[in-house]
Amino acid sequence: MQEISHLINGEYVKGTSGRFTDVFNPATGEVQGKVPLASVEEVNAAVEKAAVAQRAWAATNPQRRARVFMKFGQLINENMDKLAEAVSREHGKTLPDARGDVQRGLEVVEVCMGLPSLLKGEYTDSAGPGIDLYSMRQPLGVVAGITPFNFPAMIPLWKMAPAIAAGNAMILKPSERTPSTSLMLAELFMEAGLPKGVLQVVHGDKEAVDAILDNETIQAVGFVGSTPIAQYIYGRAATNGKRAQCFGGAKNHMLIMPDADMEKAADALIGAGYGAAGERCMAISVAVPVGQETADRLIAALVPRIEKLKVGPYTAGDDVDYGPLITKQAMDRVLGLIDKGVEQGATLVTDGRNFKLQGYENGFFVGPTLFDNVTPDMEIYKQEIFGPVLSTVRAETYEDALNLVIDNEYGNGTAIFTADGDTARDFASRVNVGMVGINFPIPVPLSYYTFGGWKKSAFGDLNQYGPDAFRFYTKTKTVTARWFSGIKDGAALNFKPMD
Ligand code: NAD
Repeated sequence: MQEISHLINGEYVKGTSGRFTDVFNPATGEVQGKVPLASVEEVNAAVEKAAVAQRAWAATNPQRRARVFMKFGQLINENMDKLAEAVSREHGKTLPDARGDVQRGLEVVEVCMGLPSLLKGEYTDSAGPGIDLYSMRQPLGVVAGITPFNFPAMIPLWKMAPAIAAGNAMILKPSERTPSTSLMLAELFMEAGLPKGVLQVVHGDKEAVDAILDNETIQAVGFVGSTPIAQYIYGRAATNGKRAQCFGGAKNHMLIMPDADMEKAADALIGAGYGAAGERCMAISVAVPVGQETADRLIAALVPRIEKLKVGPYTAGDDVDYGPLITKQAMDRVLGLIDKGVEQGATLVTDGRNFKLQGYENGFFVGPTLFDNVTPDMEIYKQEIFGPVLSTVRAETYEDALNLVIDNEYGNGTAIFTADGDTARDFASRVNVGMVGINFPIPVPLSYYTFGGWKKSAFGDLNQYGPDAFRFYTKTKTVTARWFSGIKDGAALNFKPMD
């Protein structure tokens, strides 16, 4: 069995805390590795070394730093298949999906190649007599990234790339469920020229996270994960005087208007509801058809598509639609929620509870599940299921459907399928959700925009990646400079004694 290491100052280092956790092969249920869980001392030692490395990195001119990102991007491209395989091996998602995971992270690296422009300050010439005013963006120092299991390449890249581009050093604590991809990325980053110690990969659980939150050298924390942990981390980081941006869970709704292209809407729902086994913070987990007739047509379009879905291990080929859940606990929780949905009176249209795959009987698979007639008081509506379960809430009118989204406690993503521009505009303008799709089911913004939810899907005031990330990972210094009149007013041409 593989023992995974930390990556400190450019070297692989075994954990010394004596605590480990298992990394599973989700398709077979077997343990494939063990990952060390760092102690407070191990975290603090990594931070000390990062602080030393950060000073030299911040002093490296922006163009040279940009060149490291150019090479890093090239190396990610060259190693795309290896990285995707590492993602699939620990997460269980299909290889094409894993390539997308790497690709959407790579795109943030590409934006960081323009770091000299992104870090430019402002300048006001002659703000007063002989006075110029200018501001500069300076790095914070050592910052931390704490990431979830479900995007083992993309989200660590969303954290490390802008933070390091801005001249910081980063302590990255990836999910202990999917720890290996971060190590591979860190290796490639160093191969691209990143000095040792600027990126430290420290594995761990709550103990390591709390050590990060309490460490006085760490200036900022970028977190992505579930809402209760996001809220906890935001509170403790802020109390300790750190900047924090903490992105949490989601319950994303898709409205289907009577005039929507039903075939396209159904295709979109299948991809957004069941892709990656529903383990995406931008998954659509609630379909909201408007009108009974629309709902009936939607269910009729979904069922044959669901029946065709191929569920299996990523090794079974690129025609697999989705893989297993991450752990047995995750699988049991999803199965329990499906039971609860039935118990509370939702109509179970397709039942994924008894899914079994020959040769993979101990894998963490759940078959595609569709509920109809779900109501907001049911647990399957209230909780983020994070599994291949799509709930249909029938709405009588557009206003009812819109209000359902507005009243939901989460606000990560949402979508509307319609042929009517006026309805789409109204929806985009009035809905209180951070990312909106119009005839587009998973509206993850491209890397030169920014990503962030509203309400309980995010804590903090700036989004991740794009221009917001550069604001988050830098502080502004403003200089007011006055130069008194000098030699130009009276150059002395005569030879005269010193005053
Ligand atoms: P999680 O909250 O369990 O874990 C996220 C990170 O927090 C991990 O690194 C983990 O080690 C750490 N952690 C876990 N428990 C902790 C505790 N008690 N104290 C301190 N740290 C702790 O989340 P997950 O299961 O890895 O990821 C799935 C969740 O992430 C879902 O809710 C999903 O919606 C969310 N997510 C959100 C976004 C977004 O951008 N909004 C993106 C991806 C995933």
